[in-house]
Amino acid sequence: AKSTGRNAARLFLPHMQRDADARLELERGLRTALEQQDFSLYFQPQVDMHGMLVGAEALLRWNHARLGQVSPAVFIPIAEETGLIHAIGAWVIECACRHIRQWREQDIDFGGRISINISPWQIAHPQFASNLAEQVAAAGIEPSTLTLELTESALLGDFDAALRTLQQLSAIGFRLALDDFGTGYSSLAYLQQLPLDELKIDRTFIGALQATIADPLASFVIDVGRRLGMATIAEGVETAEQEAVLRELGCDLMQGYFICRPLAADDFRQWVGQRAS
Ligand code: C2E
Ligand code: CA
Ligand code: CA
Ligand code: CA
Repeated sequence: AKSTGRNAARLFLPHMQRDADARLELERGLRTALEQQDFSLYFQPQVDMHGMLVGAEALLRWNHARLGQVSPAVFIPIAEETGLIHAIGAWVIECACRHIRQWREQDIDFGGRISINISPWQIAHPQFASNLAEQVAAAGIEPSTLTLELTESALLGDFDAALRTLQQLSAIGFRLALDDFGTGYSSLAYLQQLPLDELKIDRTFIGALQATIADPLASFVIDVGRRLGMATIAEGVETAEQEAVLRELGCDLMQGYFICRPLAADDFRQWVGQRAS
């Protein structure tokens, strides 16, 4: 079987050419997307267990002229490999700040906090914390308005450098969340060293929750967060049963289709307005 595998790897099949072409088109598209304003941010509400809005997660959307909507799960890895993630990441921050300012000026109560996804490559950039501080100051926004969502992979390279950056960010006043918690290779030991405000429990644990059956892993993860003094937030909450179990387990915050799908900025503003009235 091994030799077949090796032979198969040498073949260049038609679909491989198509994959390579598609990737190249995406890569080219990404390079021009910033200039052509093909990106936008969607916002998914985050609520506490009383249903009170506490903020929203900003999710990047790319509308490609020919291909239509391309998932960030597809284009973020390409942006990371090509180094475009730095420019795209800066755009995400700028765009989020612009919306926050607008909502403030229009007296729209968006909950007070916007979460932004930060790539490990951004954390690894030596000027990330100072650039971000400047960007936010220029936009006239309090750092505590922004929650930076990081994944454990941000710590896989130079751990000490990443830790220093996180400490800097935290000292400036940004909130820090660990995203997709429970899916990485994390040892619990490092969790205590990180200045985290929030643990985000990955969707895979939430999907496993059924009425009256509390998944032991979900329960464990919420407990870890509570004991370390962090807020716990469940992502991907899709059913009333999941919400009920999460409440029983003492989870602090929720986000998911059960509450609301990610919305374009205008729709998010409307959603907020309708709830307030
Ligand atoms: P993530 O940070 O784990 O984001 C949560 C994903 O789950 C989002 O997918 C969201 O639309 C989806 N989702 C929300 N509620 C539910 C639910 O109830 N059920 C299900 N099945 N899914 C739900 P999306 O927007 O396609 O983003 C995918 C990933 O792309 C994100 O995963 C994040 O890792 C990355 N991403 C998105 N925006 C950015 C960004 O601005 N910068 C970076 N670096 N990465 C981003
Ligand atoms: Ca996230
Ligand atoms: Ca997540
Ligand atoms: Ca996830």
